[in-house]
Amino acid sequence: MSSEASTPVLRGCIKLPLEEDELLEITAKAKDYALMHGAAMRSKTDFSPDTLNFAPFLLVPSSFPRKEFEKAVALQPIINRLMHNVAHDEEFITTTLAETIKVDEFTANLFNIYRKVLAHGFTQRVSLGMLRSDLMLESDCPELSMNILQQNEDATVAGAAAAAAKDKEEREAMEAADVKAEVYFNQTTTKCKPKIKCKDRHANVKQSAYCCWKQVEINTIASGFGHLGPASKTIQSFVLSELGHAEKLKNMPKNNALAGLCDGMVKAWDIYGKPKAVILFIIEDVSYNICDQRFHEFYIRETYPHIKVLRRTLTEVHREGKLGQSKELLLGPHEVAVIYFRAGYEPGHYHSQDEWDARYLMETSLAIKSPSIQYHLAGTKKVQQALAQPSVLERFINDPEEIKAVGKIFTGLYSLDDNDAGNASYEMALRTPEKFVLKPQREGGGNNVYGVDIPDALKRMTRVERSAWILMDLIHPPLTKGYMVRPGGEMPPPIVDMVSELGIFGVVIGDADNIVHNYQAGHMLRTKLSTANEGGVAAGLGALDSPYLIDSDNED
Ligand code: ADP
Ligand code: MG
Repeated sequence: MSSEASTPVLRGCIKLPLEEDELLEITAKAKDYALMHGAAMRSKTDFSPDTLNFAPFLLVPSSFPRKEFEKAVALQPIINRLMHNVAHDEEFITTTLAETIKVDEFTANLFNIYRKVLAHGFTQRVSLGMLRSDLMLESDCPELSMNILQQNEDATVAGAAAAAAKDKEEREAMEAADVKAEVYFNQTTTKCKPKIKCKDRHANVKQSAYCCWKQVEINTIASGFGHLGPASKTIQSFVLSELGHAEKLKNMPKNNALAGLCDGMVKAWDIYGKPKAVILFIIEDVSYNICDQRFHEFYIRETYPHIKVLRRTLTEVHREGKLGQSKELLLGPHEVAVIYFRAGYEPGHYHSQDEWDARYLMETSLAIKSPSIQYHLAGTKKVQQALAQPSVLERFINDPEEIKAVGKIFTGLYSLDDNDAGNASYEMALRTPEKFVLKPQREGGGNNVYGVDIPDALKRMTRVERSAWILMDLIHPPLTKGYMVRPGGEMPPPIVDMVSELGIFGVVIGDADNIVHNYQAGHMLRTKLSTANEGGVAAGLGALDSPYLIDSDNED
């Protein structure tokens, strides 16, 4: 993804750059802090089960507008309920995925499990949803352009002094003039977006860098960063304090993601109601993102000393697992109350039919699953695309205000099914590919096709094959500037342009008739270079971050 040169930049939480000596010292200290507080991963290039590298992180937190953050937090229980209702709507899931499963073998395999479970009836009616709704601020929307036009006109006079200055001097001049601006325009260009009539690119525009946020995707399986989200805040709080900015910590929202998610598992364990039963984590063959799983396990043992966590791969469950008389899942001497899937979301996790058999065995068992198969299917990109269509939300949400609020979070999402609408989306993608992302029914990053690569990718598919994919409007988040610290990275780290993606966790527990628990459960922020398409931290492209909440015009 390349950000346009005119992309707005959110104001940073502290003045950069830092003096080189100070930067070197604090970066070295922060790396140790990260390692010693479990903000770490196993190396992919130099793997050893005995060592950890710190996970890439942002030295100081990236700014995020307070109002938009609070809106996202407040909306999460509504999104939880929406997803719970979607997961329990057999007709909707079946119709929505009907074309996709004809061509996408992985989704078809999941759907087959769903079909078999439906045919035999659900052994366990309760599901544990541990969701993460991912979102990005949108800086490119018509309302904002109108706003900028107006604000630019207003700002030209106020910004005259700073307008003459260059780069760093420019910022200093702005600060000296005590000009308060939440954003300024990227100074590397003389161009503005055509639809923004910029009178003066250096005008210190006192207005918003975004109009709203849009949902990137909703995860219903293996929603990671319950530990690394809060851990990022810990590192950055330490760094801000070390740099003499302890007064700024109040703008970093509390983050109880780890507790929120683990308590969710324990609530499900309580519902299962057998004191000796265990919680099972389904893991990959090799867990690089180990801290983000072990800390969950450690939290459970420390907070609820009587509950045991087991970790098993799908292959191991196939080897060891069997059903008891009441269809309870048995692993050797252990009965499993709750299953938390941190694997099973991509084809590579299923080496053979054995792993599919293990998934089916668990699905038909009495254990409470996160996710149950219907929740997994509800989290597919195809379902997200269907939910964004007009009038669909009414099927799942009663309150008109809530429908309106949820409707606003969707950006354009388009079907590529083999019908008139799908063919029109196809033509649109060929005409203006730079506006879109093309997504298959996959999780875990690295699967999407972006912008100019879309036409070739689409042309290689048959009409029918296209229905395994959806098309989505590209979101254009505002930039932040900061130091990204990576293992083996440049020292001192350079200042880079970045964009962030916020994830809001939600826990929802219930069956088709009742929801018994529904709450928002913390957050995580991932930040990537503005030039990168994707920002997976485990995939090596993004970095841990946490939000520094800013109000529109009261920043120092
Ligand atoms: P996955 O399930 O593989 O995580 P996502 O839909 O989250 O798939 O896409 C992966 C990444 O691609 C996101 O984290 C984000 O960085 C980027 N991305 C996805 N959709 C968009 C979009 N509509 N606009 C901008 N970036 C996007
Ligand atoms: Mg994602």
